[in-house]
Amino acid sequence: ASLSKIKERGILIVGTEPTFPPFEFVDQNNNIVGFDIDIAKKVASELGVELKILNLPFDSLIPAIMSDKIDLIIAGMTITNKRAKVIDFSIPYFNANQSIVVRKGENFSPKSLEDLKGKKVAVQLGTTGDLVVSKIKGIKVTRFQKFTDAFLELQNKRVDAVVLDEAVANAYVKKFQKFLISSVIDTGEKYGIGVKKGNKELLDFVNSVISNMFKSPYDILVEKWF
Ligand code: GLN
Repeated sequence: ASLSKIKERGILIVGTEPTFPPFEFVDQNNNIVGFDIDIAKKVASELGVELKILNLPFDSLIPAIMSDKIDLIIAGMTITNKRAKVIDFSIPYFNANQSIVVRKGENFSPKSLEDLKGKKVAVQLGTTGDLVVSKIKGIKVTRFQKFTDAFLELQNKRVDAVVLDEAVANAYVKKFQKFLISSVIDTGEKYGIGVKKGNKELLDFVNSVISNMFKSPYDILVEKWF
């Protein structure tokens, strides 16, 4: 919705997919929390409205913003040319690469995507991880809506690897000691907040909130005095 509609409504609706720790995940109290959620809270408080988080499959986030079901996508979403054709992105707020995660203690340690040829790999549907493995011929790709299900598949030995964003791979490996990261693929991704195409007022507002978050107390003093 437009900035004025959001203010009128008194609620900012943010869509996310919460199996993506530490950006968005469900905690012990069944609340959706994380780095992205704190950014969402900041945007809502700067707007002076309440925050509503909508839990959606990752591949439904872009359709949801196009149909005005949500105001923003804050979901560790990589800025890609293809996505930027249908939605607008904020300035980048986080850098990312893909990681290959395998089971510990087995003789399988893929060092590149090529090493996954002939293997079964789980990804999240519609992610950049899905994109990079689907480009390589000979990988048997299984696509899940939840990363928790992809890792269950790895644990149960129904797939040989999971490919996903590095920071999130780190979080899963830390939580379940039976996995390890066998390699990182330098994809040079950057996360952005998604806004409905053409909603310039809201986009400008989100960009100002992000750039203010980047400012150190020192930067703020320089801006004030020079
Ligand atoms: N950064 C990846 C992408 O944009 C994964 C995001 C996610 O699964 N939440 O596709």
